[in-house]
Amino acid sequence: MAYQTVNPFNNQLIKAYPNHSDADIKATLRQADALYHSEWAKGSIDQRLPVLHKLADLLESHQEELAKIATQEMGKLIAQSRSEVQICAQIARYYADNAKKFLAPVKYDTDLGDAWVEHHPIGIIMAVEPWNFPYYQLIRVLAPNLAAGNPVICKHASIVPHCAEAFAHLVREAGAPEGAWTNLFISSDQVSAIIADPRVQGAALTGSEKAGSAVASQAAKHIKKSTLELGGNDVFMVLDDADLEKAVKTGVQARLANAGQVCTAAKRFIVHQKVADQFLRQFTDAFQQVKMGDPLDESTTLGPLSSKDAVETLSKQVSEAVQKGAKLHFGGKPANSEGNFFEPTILTHITRDNPAYFEEFFGPVAQIYVVQDDEEAVRLANDSHYGLGGAIFSRDVERAKGLASRIETGMVYINWLTDTSAELPFGGVKRSGFGRELSDLGIKEFVNQKLVVVRQ
Ligand code: NAP
Repeated sequence: MAYQTVNPFNNQLIKAYPNHSDADIKATLRQADALYHSEWAKGSIDQRLPVLHKLADLLESHQEELAKIATQEMGKLIAQSRSEVQICAQIARYYADNAKKFLAPVKYDTDLGDAWVEHHPIGIIMAVEPWNFPYYQLIRVLAPNLAAGNPVICKHASIVPHCAEAFAHLVREAGAPEGAWTNLFISSDQVSAIIADPRVQGAALTGSEKAGSAVASQAAKHIKKSTLELGGNDVFMVLDDADLEKAVKTGVQARLANAGQVCTAAKRFIVHQKVADQFLRQFTDAFQQVKMGDPLDESTTLGPLSSKDAVETLSKQVSEAVQKGAKLHFGGKPANSEGNFFEPTILTHITRDNPAYFEEFFGPVAQIYVVQDDEEAVRLANDSHYGLGGAIFSRDVERAKGLASRIETGMVYINWLTDTSAELPFGGVKRSGFGRELSDLGIKEFVNQKLVVVRQ
């Protein structure tokens, strides 16, 4: 892929970046492996954590500059870009403060003697990351692995090279040694060759099923661990006793944030028939108020999609859904503009034989399903190839908790949208992938959980 920055607001090419060569990859592997075998990686965690503290400070002090880079490169509203940088700082600080506790030895009771599990780094990790959260996706891999002592080689999405460089630069400025985090502009074949290298011990990918399947099979072929954070078709359930105003407001945010390009965005709204008409009316009103425009303009509420291709894919999906019987309730087409805008869109009457029923729509398109009762809501929620997140709105929290336990996803939020925070595990089941990032679980994915036993 050609690495280049094209502003999605007007499709102007800002800068093209040359690809790294095989010789660059060789040098990177050598350096990262040397770091892995050094005292920095194998010795006390205390020498690594200050880098994360410094990085958190740097992210905060460079917030505005980083936010602008992301907004110009992938179209995120400027306020949302700032929030992304803030959560990156939170994640860096969280692991700086907690990694030592998470990686401390854990005692096991056994008749065989004194037993404990130690946590050690395993080697170089290959990270493959998407453009939709161009910093947050990177810090989710960097922070736990830097704390654990694993060097990371990162291939970022080809449409966000400026974000990739800016992030790598800050990591170095924070004091990370050469090799701790290396950004490479490389092809899929080169990623595959890196995964095959014996010095590499794991692969972490966030992205589409296609890319996930390719990377996980390469890792499996060489008997290496992988984690996959893939797509989602999350439900947003509105029960008959929900606070409708809150459900509408949060639902609109859950569908339109980042122009709808969020793995955990609310994609399928499952609404109880008693409140369905009112919900749809208020939801449509809110979509009508949306102001599309320059994502750098603070008053804009819906920015462009990340690329021309993204608009084409979404247009095709919406047209096909309608051809196969869905009703276009609102919006439905690209906006007339030189940028990559797509109207906020609402589809209803989607039947199970419509491809839209199972597809992820990566843009501002809401699907509305009306159900008779909680049983039908759960059945519909679980009738999905994905299993990432989900939300349930109800004034009866016990009722919502019962449903949350039955939804086949990695995360469920009650009376809030599927969110993220450094201390909470993030990840899914089914075709949404496997493994967890963030929290204490995330840092244990790529460490050797080594058992030591002293026989008495
Ligand atoms: P994508 O095409 O899979 O791209 C993601 C990354 O994978 C990019 O760096 C891409 O590089 C690379 N890639 C693609 N094919 C590859 C291959 N065969 N081998 C190695 N690398 C490969 O994903 P996308 O469509 O841009 O991103 C959106 C998807 O990511 C959605 O499905 C979304 O739900 C999911 N996502 C999931 C999470 C989560 O945490 N679960 C978070 C964000 C996004 P190029 O850019 O060079 O093609």
